[in-house]
Amino acid sequence: MGTLIKITQNVVRAKGIESAKVRDSVYVGKEMIIGEIVKIEGDEAEIQVYESAQGMRVGEPVVSAGGPLSVELGPGLLGGIYDGLGRPLKKLGEYIPRGVRISALSDKSWDVKAVVKKGEDVSGGDTLAVAKENDIEIRLAVPYGVSGKVQEIRSGRLKGSASLAVISSEDKKIKVPLVTKWPVHKPIPYEVQEQPKDPMICGQRVVDMFFPIARGGKATLPGGFGVGKTVLGHSLAEGSDAQIIVYVGCGERGNEMADLLEKFRGTPIMDKMVLIANTSNMPVAAREASIYTGATIAEFYRNMGYRVLLVADSTSRWAEALREISGSMGEMPGEKGFPSYMASRIARFYERAGMVVAPGKEKRKGSVTIIGMVSPAGGDFSEPVTQASMQYTKTLWALDPNLAYRRHFPAINWTTSYSKYVDAVEGWWRVNVSADWFFLRQRALAILEKEEEVSRMIQIVGKGALSDKEKLLLDISAMLREAYLQQNAYDEIDSVSAPKKSLLMLELIFSFYDEAEKALSENISLERIEKLGARSRISQAKRNKSEGFEKQYEMLLAQVFEDFDKIRREAGKGEQ
Ligand code: ADP
Ligand code: MG
Repeated sequence: MGTLIKITQNVVRAKGIESAKVRDSVYVGKEMIIGEIVKIEGDEAEIQVYESAQGMRVGEPVVSAGGPLSVELGPGLLGGIYDGLGRPLKKLGEYIPRGVRISALSDKSWDVKAVVKKGEDVSGGDTLAVAKENDIEIRLAVPYGVSGKVQEIRSGRLKGSASLAVISSEDKKIKVPLVTKWPVHKPIPYEVQEQPKDPMICGQRVVDMFFPIARGGKATLPGGFGVGKTVLGHSLAEGSDAQIIVYVGCGERGNEMADLLEKFRGTPIMDKMVLIANTSNMPVAAREASIYTGATIAEFYRNMGYRVLLVADSTSRWAEALREISGSMGEMPGEKGFPSYMASRIARFYERAGMVVAPGKEKRKGSVTIIGMVSPAGGDFSEPVTQASMQYTKTLWALDPNLAYRRHFPAINWTTSYSKYVDAVEGWWRVNVSADWFFLRQRALAILEKEEEVSRMIQIVGKGALSDKEKLLLDISAMLREAYLQQNAYDEIDSVSAPKKSLLMLELIFSFYDEAEKALSENISLERIEKLGARSRISQAKRNKSEGFEKQYEMLLAQVFEDFDKIRREAGKGEQ
């Protein structure tokens, strides 16, 4: 047992903790609050405390918790809310009293079905048994690093606190509990990592068509206050094709998490979601842990073979926690006061994304896709957290305050955003939706770019100097921006746009564009073409459900051709 010798806000110092190691967790003070050793100097240990150290005194005891900070993994996590240390919150805003350690998963019971027999040879990652939770199969696996013969295996109604199996290995007997624990800082192992090649469909046209993210990929979503980070996060939870969603609310206002709960309570989304809430009113240091707790839970499902989406809103608050803790430790501050290792911590967090083959006989593939919000002060992307995040991710969805101000949502700027997964996911689109995807997105982005050029020209020479062709281009780009890219998160139908719908809407816009250009070349006036009201028709088209959109598309396409036939006939009459 050690003794407290110094106390600052989030960091305390103790001496004499037996066999103390960096990353070990400890119970600090009479109230036994949770802490983690961050540095060891001789006989003394520096400890980051995950709960308030208020009222604690020098001389109080510090005891080893017998291992690193860990999170419980097993059936029972889905649909729940946990604090940054993985402790269950009954309701949001609830604040677990200091020092209280509750097991998240021990009390519930599950119908467990064994899939191995006594005497079978098993090794780490092999499925021992399955349990159903909200229609999702939870695979209970042999712990990593263990291999041997199944000596005992249980089936039937089992409590979370129950033992599941006994595995004998040489002369050792290893008990495998139903609920296991895993240290949050240590990535759960996988066999091999694969190059991401399928997109994670997000249901947002600007994302899926323009700046896609791959399954197992990573994206940065930076934006100043009020530009739509959280709403987009909620939309992704709702519209993505992820099978499991781990949503980490980190240091933001509690009402944002409350909104999330309100929105999804009682829906199938909640059944596949795990919420980690570490809102701004909760202890700063636990914010740091919440990110790792989220990543560990995500990897747990990944190794079952699921597509997992991990959303962290906001990684800036996490970095600020790092800064505060580092300050308490008296470390030399780096850029903007952040510790010099902040960037490498961000890198390590994003490294937990990936498409992997999980260990075990079944050779299951699973993925963790990470989307990290960043809240740069004043929306200044040159600050260190945004910069480091951009460096270690491959997609940038740059939120633009000007777009948000004009109520263009999602306010993803199409000039500054990018995706390095475009080439990787092209094949998926080709096989599953349409071979036109690549071409359509290129053409759309080129038109939007051209619009800026033309707009600059207007400022110099005035609109009057534009050719009809250039004016038509402006019409089309306005159509792209307003009718296509804008997607109201609160619209019952258009909040989520399926890949086919997203693609066909672009096809429709370009069919109109091609017809209009042809008509112009036949000396039909732009005025007449504009009277067709194509923009409002596309806007209406997006109010149609994704299911059955193809039929809608066929009809609208036929109408485009009909319209142009009609104005051609009119023009023909005029000439006679
Ligand atoms: P942030 O998290 O970046 O501070 P929010 O996500 O809370 O910003 O968004 C601020 C406001 O912007 C929302 O309350 C909403 O009114 C509006 N908004 C953002 N995205 C959308 C969207 N896709 N559709 C409609 N409104 C949106
Ligand atoms: Mg927000």
